[in-house]
Amino acid sequence: MKCIVCHSQSIEPKDIMEEIHSGNDIIYVKLNIPVCSSCGERYYDRKTMKHLEEVQKTVFNGTSNLSEIGKVLVYKD
Ligand SMILES: [Zn+2]
Repeated sequence: MKCIVCHSQSIEPKDIMEEIHSGNDIIYVKLNIPVCSSCGERYYDRKTMKHLEEVQKTVFNGTSNLSEIGKVLVYKD
């Protein structure tokens, strides 16, 4: 498999944290997908996309199992 962005051959499965945004909240979803180690391009297959859609649904209707790991804060001058 060749990277479509940088044409590197070094695409390997990696654990990544995909971000889902819900209003001001950010939900991280752990995925194991092929990532180009030279430019960082992520490759989502159909199954992964479907999984993310499912997760997104449960986040929006409030049925997902979420735990708080930190806060997102905005600095005001
Ligand atoms: Zn690349």
